[in-house]
Amino acid sequence: MEKEKYGVHRTHCCIEHGCKYGDKDCPVVNREIRQDYICEDCDNEGINSVDELFLSPWKKELKKVNQCPQRQDSLQDQLRDLAIIANKFGLYDANDYLKTVLEIY
Ligand SMILES: [Zn+2]
Ligand SMILES: [Zn+2]
Repeated sequence: MEKEKYGVHRTHCCIEHGCKYGDKDCPVVNREIRQDYICEDCDNEGINSVDELFLSPWKKELKKVNQCPQRQDSLQDQLRDLAIIANKFGLYDANDYLKTVLEIY
């Protein structure tokens, strides 16, 4: 694709949700250039900025997880499991914090 045509892709396409024009050689999807804005699908998924889109691989992982039924066990047990989940998603500081809280219980 000629570089002159990059502009429309830069402003309309999304690295996560694809080329708005269905172009196989979209420079945004192929990571040649970075998009200027988030797309409508990003917005629907709670992504607020291009930076967030690029910095949040955990959100992409989260999408793969199915909704689980509500649990009836204790808050302490749930927090203990939440610490495991936090760790899995790379939220190490949150994991450390939860461990601290759990020791106080
Ligand atoms: Zn495109
Ligand atoms: Zn998007």
